[in-house]
Amino acid sequence: MSERVQIIAGRCTTVFEGTREQEQHGDVIVLVKPDGTVLVHDAQGYQPVAWLTRAEAVTVTDETIVAQDGEQSLEVTIENVHLREQYAASDAGLPAGRCPDCGGQLVRTSGSVVCPGCDESYSLPTGSTTLSTTCDDCGLPEFRVERGDAFDLCLDPDCDPLDERVRERFDNVWDCPNCGGALRVLRRGGLLLGCENYPDCETGFSFPAGEHAGECSCGLPVFDTPSGRRCLDRACEPEQKSEA
Ligand SMILES: [Zn+2]
Ligand SMILES: [Zn+2]
Ligand SMILES: [Zn+2]
Ligand SMILES: [Zn+2]
Repeated sequence: MSERVQIIAGRCTTVFEGTREQEQHGDVIVLVKPDGTVLVHDAQGYQPVAWLTRAEAVTVTDETIVAQDGEQSLEVTIENVHLREQYAASDAGLPAGRCPDCGGQLVRTSGSVVCPGCDESYSLPTGSTTLSTTCDDCGLPEFRVERGDAFDLCLDPDCDPLDERVRERFDNVWDCPNCGGALRVLRRGGLLLGCENYPDCETGFSFPAGEHAGECSCGLPVFDTPSGRRCLDRACEPEQKSEA
């Protein structure tokens, strides 16, 4: 996602209409973000003096910046421009190793690792941690994810697909509690353990984000997850609950 933020510094009149009515005049800096957020900063403090977050529509001309969102609007009339520029902008996040393609710093954002240098983006499965080790094949950093076991995988899913590793380890390992058929590792949006006798048997459980930690009294596996130990079947109350 190559996105740009617009910066306009100038003597402006700002009129906000909506939840609060407000008019201001001064030498300010206006930021127009790629998501439609418009911020007007003056000389003081960290807070904008006027703003509209993620406006539906933003129109920027030589004389005005108009942001509209439902009943709310922010109109900035530029009387005297000091500076007007556009710059590349990316999401900011934790440094997460080097990009093997451009040598740039990779960045961990909420659900992915991105390279601001070459616009590459690798999405991460829920609950992943990035590692300092790199892939032998392509040089990308690796990450760790727990799906029954801890797997260290390359950021590029074509290098080392998570589903294959989980399948190697857990396909046909457990039995369906309803018909006795084998539970297969499947992907339907998320990873599942589903009965081999589908559609005759519709038993299926989403694969927990945690490590396999023994067996439940019901016969299904138990997992240690970030939110505690639980049976594969969320509706099941395991007997070996911690006595803490
Ligand atoms: Zn790169
Ligand atoms: Zn790789
Ligand atoms: Zn079944
Ligand atoms: Zn159980």
